[in-house]
Amino acid sequence: MPELPEVETTVRGLERFLDGERIARVTLNRADLRRPFPPDLVQVLTGARVTGMGRRAKYGLIHTDREQTMVFHLGMSGRWRIEPEAPDKHDHLVLETGAGHVLALNDARRFGSVDLVPTAGLDAWGAFATLGPEPLGDDLTPAHLRAAFAGRIAPIKQMLLDQTIVAGLGNIYVCEALFRSGIRPDKEAGRVSGPALGRLVPAIKQVLGESIAAGGSTIKDYAQPNGELGYFAASWQVYGREGDPCGCGAPVLRFVQGGRSTFWCRKCQK
Ligand SMILES: [Zn+2]
Repeated sequence: MPELPEVETTVRGLERFLDGERIARVTLNRADLRRPFPPDLVQVLTGARVTGMGRRAKYGLIHTDREQTMVFHLGMSGRWRIEPEAPDKHDHLVLETGAGHVLALNDARRFGSVDLVPTAGLDAWGAFATLGPEPLGDDLTPAHLRAAFAGRIAPIKQMLLDQTIVAGLGNIYVCEALFRSGIRPDKEAGRVSGPALGRLVPAIKQVLGESIAAGGSTIKDYAQPNGELGYFAASWQVYGREGDPCGCGAPVLRFVQGGRSTFWCRKCQK
């Protein structure tokens, strides 16, 4: 499933072909993904100029001079194909720029979504209204986490996956950040010390930043025929490594927390 770093890398890859460009042609090959495409999508985007791009949580943002922003979510299997050599049956939305670039939103399982939102009202839009701060932004601080965790007995891992506390953090990144900051995933959130939160915030930013950098190294592929944006290999220290030796020599452990696998080291995380 595309996680925050993949979405960030996707936005940066698309930016090179879209930012400042006019959208000359918009083709919809079906009526819906997880939900219907906006009825006025083709009309609003055709002829619009892209004035900027961005990301909020796991959503990509394409701002236009029509005061509307196209908001896309990649769901489980979504990806953008840049300059596809041939059409694919899962290319559901195809944008052609004035410069002749072709960008296809491909989503085999169709759990993704596309919405048009007034740019001025983005922060209040349904999916965004209750989101916590961006993990890579300045608003994610140890003080924010301390306030959000105060008095909470839920395990810290569950709290970090709560999008109202931090936006867009996924299971892999939470496991890795807790390992790097030496915090047990099942520790009561309200009992995590100030120094531990002081280690956790930079660990979150670091693990996401490294993944984005790893994805960025694949950007050169985007311009090739059949170039696609999707997963990139990253090397995790605990995630997916049950039974492997941790750097300390103890085995990496796994247990199920809230229906998801948690990987950790009993010796390194207190
Ligand atoms: Zn260890």
